[in-house]
Amino acid sequence: MRRFGLFLATCLLAACQNQTADGSGTSAVSDGSEWSNIGFSAKEQRHSPLDQINESNVAELGIAWFKDLPDARGQEATPVVVDDKLYISTAWSKVFAYDAKTGEELWSYDPEVPGEKAVDACCDVVNRGIAISRGKLFFGTIDGRLIALDSNTGARLWETQTTDNSKPYTITGAPRVVKNMVIIGNGGAEFGVRGYVTAYSVSDGSQKWRFYTVPNPEGKADGAASDEIFAKAANKTWGEGEWKESGGGGTVWDSIVYDEDLDQLYFGVGNGNPWNHGLRSGGEGDNLFLSSIVAVNPDTGKYLWHYQETPAETWDYTATQHIIIAEIDWPKETEEGETTAVTERRKVLFHAPKNGFFFVIDRTNGRLMSAEPFVENINWAEGYDLKTGRPIENPEARFYKTGKPFVSIPGALGAHNWHPMSYNPKSGLVYIPAQQIPQGYEVPTSDLDRKRERLGFNVGIGWAIGQLPDDKDVYKAAIAATTGKLVAFDPKAGKVAWTVDHPAAWNGGTMTTAGNLVFQGTSVGLFKAFAADSGEELLSMDMQSGIVAAPSTYMIDDEQYVAFLTSKGGAFPLVAGVAGGASRTVPNIPRLVVMKLGGRTSLPALPEKSEVVWNPPEPTGTPAQIADGKALYGRFCLVCHGDSAVGNGFTPDLRISGTLASEEAWASIITGGALKQHGMVSFSSQLKESQVEALRHYVIDRSNWTKANVADVTAPIGR
Ligand code: CA
Repeated sequence: MRRFGLFLATCLLAACQNQTADGSGTSAVSDGSEWSNIGFSAKEQRHSPLDQINESNVAELGIAWFKDLPDARGQEATPVVVDDKLYISTAWSKVFAYDAKTGEELWSYDPEVPGEKAVDACCDVVNRGIAISRGKLFFGTIDGRLIALDSNTGARLWETQTTDNSKPYTITGAPRVVKNMVIIGNGGAEFGVRGYVTAYSVSDGSQKWRFYTVPNPEGKADGAASDEIFAKAANKTWGEGEWKESGGGGTVWDSIVYDEDLDQLYFGVGNGNPWNHGLRSGGEGDNLFLSSIVAVNPDTGKYLWHYQETPAETWDYTATQHIIIAEIDWPKETEEGETTAVTERRKVLFHAPKNGFFFVIDRTNGRLMSAEPFVENINWAEGYDLKTGRPIENPEARFYKTGKPFVSIPGALGAHNWHPMSYNPKSGLVYIPAQQIPQGYEVPTSDLDRKRERLGFNVGIGWAIGQLPDDKDVYKAAIAATTGKLVAFDPKAGKVAWTVDHPAAWNGGTMTTAGNLVFQGTSVGLFKAFAADSGEELLSMDMQSGIVAAPSTYMIDDEQYVAFLTSKGGAFPLVAGVAGGASRTVPNIPRLVVMKLGGRTSLPALPEKSEVVWNPPEPTGTPAQIADGKALYGRFCLVCHGDSAVGNGFTPDLRISGTLASEEAWASIITGGALKQHGMVSFSSQLKESQVEALRHYVIDRSNWTKANVADVTAPIGR
């Protein structure tokens, strides 16, 4: 280790508090000089005790150094800093290591994920971070591998395939190192897979245990840690339905947290497949462990407790969002369950999942202590019954029961998605990157939407409801209805303390510090700091690019740094279409930015935008062809190219595609696979020649109609 002397001195000063009780060294140096876990420490509060940068001087922050990254796709990772080295993972599951003070690149590692695997990634080819322990760095890849590198050299130590690559599994989440094991989940619940979490040995990648989150579809034992709880309780929470064909979903694609106090491992479980509970499970049963937080014994993977936030999930309400471990003072209860004025210290976890309620859960037993809304206008449920722990639902929300469409707030993108929240023990507030993205749900009305396919979402809803009608006022209303917010939530009071409005949804994760600060980047390209107690804005810097990731902070040679990735990307920009609003045309620049007080480095001038030629071919499709094309577009194309084909700045704006004029050129991409290295694989197994042509006529129609009617609302985006 180049800086071993300094590291040893730091370790002695801090009484080696970066070592956990079992010596695995997974928690951070307590003085905050390192950010050694993706969420700062094992508690994942994303709160740093550093205060050199504080509310009185944060306006003097400037750029110390920056590094441009290779891929203009979503960058979602939080930088991790250990032993004066800064590590990031990027789009396409690449890893980079830098000198954290100077920015010198030390090494990089490209696992060479095949480009066509991108079609199995619901939400872009992103990666949310690495884990590091005792000189080993761990990360997952889009094609389901878990890889261990030497953190000093970048040399590969081992890799193991954690998924079946004939199925649409992916890994986008960060692994966690717990007691000489590395724990990883996976994604794919929109397409249809069976979720699980696996523990591997840090030394050689051999499997220690696996926990499935949904039952074995053949009713057999898996030989896994989860067998016992399924046989005992969870199997009977499932009815007859498509889950037996699809795998049921329940992927653990993000949050995995180790509780050092109680020696328990928690993970958040995703949505069901299909979303539609009527098709998935015949409308019967709670479907454990979908949309639940599950606690297991970290040594064996055996079930300890669970809390299901959304029983019988049917709106893509995942519980995969970031889990924070905390202790708070809470009113003592009498034996009859009455609250008293006396408080006691409670071991809790905080969770703000997609469904819009903020949960305080007793982590000794999984009991619900509080569930209160952190956003406005929630309409699927009016609240929670604390005695049963269950939501009080609006019956209209179960569209498969009423047979009527339901526009839900929140929608499938959530009141809060993966963007990490943070907790400041001093202010007592949790800072949530929240959003308002309504979504319509209805049962599939066509065979096209109903039929399961190897490519494309298989979620059991009708896609027409997600496609805006040809009406300028509706376009404007969709933009106005889709917003973002920084929410400071007080878990003790069970209510919002303050909020900051952002012009568009899908803003960056947050970080808070002892300098009474909370930091957040925005989807419209600003990096901001606010007073943690009051929400007063103290800094707003133009970063040229939309930001979705969360920052981290560290200190070297008595200087505090703040590091973060820029770029647009992930699920919302892909699918949003018109509703992307103010964020739609903001550039997407993949870059690592590191700031410090008085930093004087400038970003390079933005490249000149290529001139947009918006000259669509004459519309020659018949109304029937265009209608067919619209239905096919909704079924197969919308989730990556956005509603109405308006583009997002990183997948192409199809309305200005040069291939529109040529049947052959168009088909060479759609069914010929000409762009498969970018994830646009051939859809020849799904689409007939006449359907490919119908799609072309639909996009030509989009191009002509939007040019004539809403050019001011959805201008094309140049590259
Ligand atoms: Ca999902």
